[in-house]
Amino acid sequence: MFMHHYRNGLKTKSLMSEVICQRCQTKNEFYVEQSGPHIKAICNHCNNYIKFLPQAKEPPKFHFGKHTGKYIQDIDDLSYLKWAAENMTKIKQEIKDAIIKRISSLENLAR
Ligand SMILES: [Zn+2]
Repeated sequence: MFMHHYRNGLKTKSLMSEVICQRCQTKNEFYVEQSGPHIKAICNHCNNYIKFLPQAKEPPKFHFGKHTGKYIQDIDDLSYLKWAAENMTKIKQEIKDAIIKRISSLENLAR
């Protein structure tokens, strides 16, 4: 894995290939800029656009109920999470998994 220097908080997947500036041949030294739904890598040295980077997948969040729009990993409302895990039978597996994971991490914290 390569070290990248991100100037801002945008998250990208760890890259399997090197990011090389076509203009000055600098390797893996770039900053990132949001460009619509994409993330652009831009050379630290000559400000040349290098390429688009794959964007990290967003963590699952609730699309319903009182915590709509919040990431499941950020919710501290244990009783709601437990209720959701038991009663929300039609939700996506990905969301269910996140709820169950969050419940167990909250329960571990409480010990
Ligand atoms: Zn460059």
